[in-house]
Amino acid sequence: GGDPSQKIDYVFKVVLIGDSAVGKSQILARFARNEFSLDSKATIGVEFQTRTMVIQHKSVKAQIWDTAGQERYRAVTSAYYRGAVGAMLVYDITKRQTFDHIPRWLEELRNHADKNIVIILIGNKTDLEDERAVSTEDAKEFAQKEGLFFLETSALQATNVDDAFLTVLTEIFNIVN
Ligand code: GDP
Ligand code: MG
Repeated sequence: GGDPSQKIDYVFKVVLIGDSAVGKSQILARFARNEFSLDSKATIGVEFQTRTMVIQHKSVKAQIWDTAGQERYRAVTSAYYRGAVGAMLVYDITKRQTFDHIPRWLEELRNHADKNIVIILIGNKTDLEDERAVSTEDAKEFAQKEGLFFLETSALQATNVDDAFLTVLTEIFNIVN
């Protein structure tokens, strides 16, 4: 949020996780700055970005953490997860392997994050429908089985990006209220 005088009622830390190149940094760029870049480089030195939203008349500052290219299995440190109340678990709908790795990321969350963390599964790059390798039904079924929220997004087209964050933030908000 730009206005420094704005009263903040809540700050929620949310972490982005998932394989490299699924679109985590672009989802964050879209959400925090309404920007998108087709040849994105890892942002060096920036740990998180924020955006303040109003939920049920309260101002909620989302502090969204992005891995700076540490997506190798077990390379993300526990400091990254510390204090996180939400997690966005991202795969690329055109790369089956990135979906097949989701159980590993869930295990990482179970090992490092708070057990009550709110998790949303996100299938990104829906603008590439012709290259789809993971069906919506498969992902939905998996999410249901694991008790995760689920949405498909396109950071490029700005489809469902705000909705994905709002889903997580509203659920966290309801838990703390
Ligand atoms: P990260 O490694 O998970 O942070 O992935 P990036 O955000 O760096 O994105 C990896 C590549 O995928 C970049 O070339 C992005 O421009 C591209 N990308 C990210 N989101 C989308 C999307 O929704 N649609 C398309 N077509 N490309 C995307
Ligand atoms: Mg990135």
